[in-house]
Amino acid sequence: MGMSESFQDNLFDYIFKTILIGDSGVGKSNLLSRFVWDKFRHDSKPTIGVEFAYSNTQIDEKLIKTQIWDTAGQERFRAFTSSYYRGALGALLVYDITQRPTFNNLAKWLMEIRDYGDSDMVIALVGNKIDLGHSREVSREEGQSFAEKEGLCFMETSALENLNVGEAFLELITQIYKVTSKKSL
Ligand code: GDP
Repeated sequence: MGMSESFQDNLFDYIFKTILIGDSGVGKSNLLSRFVWDKFRHDSKPTIGVEFAYSNTQIDEKLIKTQIWDTAGQERFRAFTSSYYRGALGALLVYDITQRPTFNNLAKWLMEIRDYGDSDMVIALVGNKIDLGHSREVSREEGQSFAEKEGLCFMETSALENLNVGEAFLELITQIYKVTSKKSL
């Protein structure tokens, strides 16, 4: 398993580590499973601990393997934070458009990213659950202007209805690719 995996890694031009960040319940795990397996889960998480999945992408004829880490319910535990952030080139920072506190907490998450993450880490801000438009508590414009102020890419998504999910991850991967390929010139 280990050997065949490292053999297969030779096929890729780049391997990126990315992480999912944001309050518990905003839909991080479902964004990941929608993107990687096209699956959605209505119940809450069965597991505790860090999980990850892989996704393959091609940009400019380069093969990119992206490892996406999910906290799986460990948002409040500090012990694993530095290993979670170590080597991460990008983060999907997620809030729930129907829960204003998850938006108000973004500043706190950005502080953590600045404490633990690389200074040139790419951050994509994602407002999830737009299928629940009737319960919206954070407008699109608020999300957009917060992202602009902080220099983040921004997108609104629904993991449930598969709206913009692929686009959000691809935007993150494309931005990482731009930063990384510039560095290796
Ligand atoms: P996490 O704790 O951030 O990983 O969030 P989960 O992916 O476990 O989702 C938390 C809850 O929100 C679950 O009950 C999901 O079914 C639900 N959920 C996640 N994404 C969406 C979405 O886009 N729309 C709706 N309506 N519910 C969602």
